[in-house]
Amino acid sequence: MSKYDSLKYWAKVKARVPHRCQSCGTIINKGELYYKEKIDFVNPPPGFTLGELCEKCGEETKR
Ligand SMILES: [Zn+2]
Repeated sequence: MSKYDSLKYWAKVKARVPHRCQSCGTIINKGELYYKEKIDFVNPPPGFTLGELCEKCGEETKR
């Protein structure tokens, strides 16, 4: 775990561009709600990946 992992959280947001769920591969279309991993207060280092999940996988991940 990096020091950034403890700062990450899942936010439910509306897609402004199409995304792909990293868990099941579902395409999240523009305008649909999905879960996006976010970090506050710091800028993640280059190459640091933040997750994107469809609504269904996001609900399961948060549990
Ligand atoms: Zn999914």
